[in-house]
Amino acid sequence: MQVLKFGGSSVANAENINKVVEIIKNKKADTKTVVVVSALGGITDLLLKTAALAEANDESYKTSLQEIEDKHLETVKNLIPVQQQSGVLSLVKTICNEAEDICNGIFLLRELSARTKDRIVSYGELLSSQIIAAKLNATGLVTEWKDARKIIVTDSNYGMAVVDFAATDKKTAAFFDASASSLFIIPGFIAADKNSITTTLGRGGSDYTAAILAAALEASVLEIWTDVSGIMTADPRLVNNIKHIPQISYQEAMELSHFGAKVIYPPTIQPVMKKGIPVWIKNTFAPDELGTVIKNEATATGTSIQGISSINKIVLLSLEGSGMVGIPGFSKRLFEALANAFINVILITQGSSEHSICVGVDEHASAKAKEVIDAAFDYEIETNKVDPIIVEKELSIVAIVGDNMKNHSGISGKMFSALGRNGVSIRAIAQGSSERNISAVIATADVKKAINVLHEEFFETTYKQVNLFIAGLGNVGQKFLDQLIQQKQFLLDKLRIQIRVVGIANSKKMYFNEDGVDIANWQSEIQKGEAMNLADFTSTIQSKNLRNSVFADVTANDELATIYGDLLQKSISVVACNKVAASSPYVYYKKLKDLANEFNSHFLFETNVGAGLPIIGTLKDLLHSGDKINRLQAVLSGTLNFVFNNYDGSKSFASVVKQAQDEGYTEPDPRLDLSGKDVMRKIMILARESGEQMEMEDISNNSFMPESCMTGSVADFYAAMEKEEAHFKKILDAAKAAGKKLKFVASYDNGKAAVGLQQVDEQSDFYHLYGKDNVVLFYTDRYPEQPLVVKGAGAGAAVTASGVFADIIRAAAN
Ligand code: ADP
Ligand code: ASP
Ligand code: MG
Repeated sequence: MQVLKFGGSSVANAENINKVVEIIKNKKADTKTVVVVSALGGITDLLLKTAALAEANDESYKTSLQEIEDKHLETVKNLIPVQQQSGVLSLVKTICNEAEDICNGIFLLRELSARTKDRIVSYGELLSSQIIAAKLNATGLVTEWKDARKIIVTDSNYGMAVVDFAATDKKTAAFFDASASSLFIIPGFIAADKNSITTTLGRGGSDYTAAILAAALEASVLEIWTDVSGIMTADPRLVNNIKHIPQISYQEAMELSHFGAKVIYPPTIQPVMKKGIPVWIKNTFAPDELGTVIKNEATATGTSIQGISSINKIVLLSLEGSGMVGIPGFSKRLFEALANAFINVILITQGSSEHSICVGVDEHASAKAKEVIDAAFDYEIETNKVDPIIVEKELSIVAIVGDNMKNHSGISGKMFSALGRNGVSIRAIAQGSSERNISAVIATADVKKAINVLHEEFFETTYKQVNLFIAGLGNVGQKFLDQLIQQKQFLLDKLRIQIRVVGIANSKKMYFNEDGVDIANWQSEIQKGEAMNLADFTSTIQSKNLRNSVFADVTANDELATIYGDLLQKSISVVACNKVAASSPYVYYKKLKDLANEFNSHFLFETNVGAGLPIIGTLKDLLHSGDKINRLQAVLSGTLNFVFNNYDGSKSFASVVKQAQDEGYTEPDPRLDLSGKDVMRKIMILARESGEQMEMEDISNNSFMPESCMTGSVADFYAAMEKEEAHFKKILDAAKAAGKKLKFVASYDNGKAAVGLQQVDEQSDFYHLYGKDNVVLFYTDRYPEQPLVVKGAGAGAAVTASGVFADIIRAAAN
């Protein structure tokens, strides 16, 4: 004896049913075969909707009924040759008429009981099973149709009836013993109570029907044919890189399904497990694929967990109060109250202080649960021994499941730290004493992210996906995208990181795509987006709630720097090439650093000083390893260095500045560089990173720029510099006469910072500094006389982009 069950999508239409027929045909002929079928996909929901319309006295229930009838008639017409259609067509009509009579009754009475609901939904499986039986017979496979209500006996708990196994086994055995047929077709999901009133086994219950029959008949195998090739490591609708599980134990399958893996209806496992009947999950649409076998043996795949699942629409009920401590019987009364109201408890946790008990129940039971618990404890509540029950909504449970968990330590640590890193806050935790599952209650809005994070943590041997949002697509932004394209394979191969750009923005437009923006064609991609708007930009990044999210600010925009805090506190890392935030008032800088700490995100801005040079990184390494920064001497403006290296009097000072701007070394507004303000920002950032609470006003600036150059537009600025050529020439000549070079130097010494133009002689570390190079001399406890020196190109789009890139990798790597 073998039992095969085909689900709603497997029998959704004639085309699919033909596939089912092929599968049945190819089954062993030497053993009896029982085929259990669901209703045509979507029909159960449609029947419920129809009944609800009728109950609401809405005439459109008739249209809905017609839709149901048409769907079945069409299926018959597409499935069965015309000559053989008439019998089954009239059967379909008869069943639909019966459904209509009942709906008319509901409409007139405006009343829909649980019992009538069961009757209505039963037509779905009755119709599908009759049609498939007719098809099999028409194909020449002699099939006996049997009404499940004649063999499966339940109590009268409509909607979720409890099976009477003794009576069911007896009736099932009697029927099959008496029948000479070798192929049977039976509607799933439906049964009858001892008065022959129709009942159902709960949504998704056809799996259970098949398992009940397999157990009663001691079948050699139960096959559940559905639309996926077996049980996967997570719900394929939520995770892209799911992996197939070839073999799983009954217990694991039970836990996974109990915690939401819809692929099997939870009660299904129990009857077959008792009899040791193997269960195969197979794909109707890819019958040659292996599928998953559920059986007794542990799977010994070496991995610590088998799968991850989730249930939405959970509410958490917490009973708290000092009066609970040390007094036995509180939990008994709590669970009794819930059980008496037929409320199923999905999860339980109790603090070791005994000060609170927390239970998770289905959302629809929430109001009832609160009512019965409050009633059960009304004396204690009145006397302030316990607080009125607290109800928290919009929650979900994520669970990791695996028999092997007990042999591996650190699983829960891994689970919670991965969730924590991604800002998923955990409301309650439960671990069964079997150590086969760990479940956590989280906000429903976090479920997709959480499942993906956990999947990556436990199963992803391939790569970690980083979701990147970029603002700014100017020189640096574009260079960065080029580098990203070029490094893609390397990052995958060597670092196992896949950076997916999921949002891009410039000053005009913003465009998001969770599947990845085509960055090679970002110009046309961004056209698909909407007008850039900072508030929407921020809220979109937040609401996408993607794991391993990083925001890269490749602009010099003041406003963008105001959103960092909102992102950091959602555990979204911020990589800024923009210096505004790190050089804003100290309290804001500090706040951002603190937020990053608190919410496990990163706030990185290496390129704020010296473009791609490892200056802040070096400083941090020194501090982290216990060194102390005593003094910094630096040339930090690529622009000014370029300008003074190239200004020899042959061309005007203004034209050298223009050349620096044209070659992409200056800030968008070159006055920021020329005034020395940009250098002030940089030395302040270094001082702050060294532990100094410094503000811009604390830095002295010995500026060489005449006042007249610093007002008006950028064009005015160039014109004014031309006029002041004599001033610049004088500075140059004085240096030349002394045999010295001009360098714009920044220093930080014992808490004081200063910037200004200096003449340096040949002995100076700054004398041989060419082009747009920067240099920083670190005088520390460990490097007291001879400083640690970092030197190299300190400006330019490509090196800046590479610094941004490095920060993104740093943020992504942990
Ligand atoms: P049927 O109608 O055949 O009973 P269901 O829709 O009830 O099919 O169950 C199959 C679906 O279960 C799959 O399409 C998939 O979306 C979902 N599912 C959820 N979790 C898992 C998982 N861990 N492995 C496989 N499928 C899963
Ligand atoms: N048709 C029922 C439902 O949709 C039972 C099943 O498909 O298993 O819930
Ligand atoms: Mg199902």
